[in-house]
Amino acid sequence: MAYDDQNIFAKILTGELPALKVYEDDQVLAFMDIMPQADGHTLVIPKAPATTLLDLDPEIAAYTIQVVQKIAKAIESALDAKGIVLMQLSGAAAGQTVPHVHFHLIPSSIHQLGRHAATPGDPAVIQAFADKIKAALATQ
Ligand code: 5GP
Repeated sequence: MAYDDQNIFAKILTGELPALKVYEDDQVLAFMDIMPQADGHTLVIPKAPATTLLDLDPEIAAYTIQVVQKIAKAIESALDAKGIVLMQLSGAAAGQTVPHVHFHLIPSSIHQLGRHAATPGDPAVIQAFADKIKAALATQ
């Protein structure tokens, strides 16, 4: 699918839009979701321009999943999370709202998730969870 380089996450990657980043390397960025479905809801994106998982280079997908696991471990220790939902929506028909491939890490249960991309979180609360996750990453 043709990549829209004006999408929100593309603009976060270029720095045109702000984000509460918790992890960044040359291939991957992780940042807090601004409409969290649970406290600590974090997004992990490859920097490569791909719209859905189906468009992503397999080697970049494999590396991105390694970072997803790293962030999941940080969320587990930072928040004492008993479970983490990993969600990946590919295509508007699946409910994808931002056309840059991303992985949701949501410390919650599939039975207790808040509504998807619906309610802006309190920026101070999101910042506090970002700080906890960053601190946990620093000890890995
Ligand atoms: P999708 O529906 O594409 O799977 O998920 C997109 C996610 O991005 C949603 O959970 C939504 O809350 C989040 N989101 C939308 N706009 C922004 C934004 O400007 N900044 C951040 N950090 N997250 C966003």
